[in-house]
Amino acid sequence: MNTDEISRNLQRLEQRITNACLKVNRKSQEIRLIPVTKTKSAEMIQMAVALGVSHVGENKVQELISKAERLQNEKLEWILIGHLQSNKVKKIIQYIQEFHALDSIKLAEKLNKELQCIDKKLDVFIQVNTSNEISKYGMQPEQLADFLCQMQQFRQLNVVGLMTLALHTKHEPQIRQCFQLLKKLLDESRIDYPNISRLSMGMSGDFEIAIEEGATDIRVGQAIFGHRALADEYYWPEQGEK
Ligand SMILES: *Cc1c(COP(=O)(O)O)cnc(C)c1O
Repeated sequence: MNTDEISRNLQRLEQRITNACLKVNRKSQEIRLIPVTKTKSAEMIQMAVALGVSHVGENKVQELISKAERLQNEKLEWILIGHLQSNKVKKIIQYIQEFHALDSIKLAEKLNKELQCIDKKLDVFIQVNTSNEISKYGMQPEQLADFLCQMQQFRQLNVVGLMTLALHTKHEPQIRQCFQLLKKLLDESRIDYPNISRLSMGMSGDFEIAIEEGATDIRVGQAIFGHRALADEYYWPEQGEK
C-alpha cells in the first residue's frame, strides 16, 4: 500500500458512505469514520495522517502504545476499540481519547480510579453482545439498563454511546438484526440518559448496513488499508482472556 492507494480507498469509502446515507435520508456528516490501523505499520499510519486522517482505532493495548510512542509527533488521536484487561488500564489511559469496548463494572471502576489520578476524563462506548455468540465480548442486552445505572457513579467516564460487533456471517438479515437491536437499546437508554447518543457499529464488510440502521461511528480497516494477514480470531479470541 502506498499513499495513492490509501487515498483512492478513502475516496471510494467516502462515496460508499454517501450512498448508504442517501438510501435512508441521512447526512454523511452524521457519520464519523474511524480508520482502523491494527497490524498496519507506523509508516502507513503516517501516510493516512498526510491524507487528513486525525484519529485511528487500534484493537490491542500493546500495539496501540508502541505505535503511539513512535508517532507522538503526529497530530493524531488514538481510540481503543478492543477488549481491555484491568491490569493494563494504568498503562493505556494516557494514550487514548476514547474507549469503545467497556463491558464490565470492574473495568469501569479501575478506569475511573486511574483516570482520577491523572485528572483526565474519557469518552466511552458500552459494548453489547448483540449476536449471541459466546466468543464475542460485550454484555448481554438485558444487563445494559442496570449497567448504565451503575455507570453514574464514575465521574471520569463519559458514556457517549453503545458499540457492537455484528454476527460474523454473509447472511445480511442476521447482521442487520444485530444493528437494529443496538439501535433499539440506544433509543431505550436515551429516555433516562439523553447524553448517550452514538452508535459505534459497522466494519469493512457491513458498514453500509450499519449506516442504514443508525450507526454514527463506523470502524473500518481493510477497506482503507488492505487485507490483514492475521486472522480475526487473533482479535476476537474464542475464549476471551477475561
Ligand atoms: C479490526 C476491527 C474493526 C475493523 O475491521 P475491518 O474488517 O478491518 O474493517 C472494527 N472493529 C473492531 C473492534 C476491530 O477489531
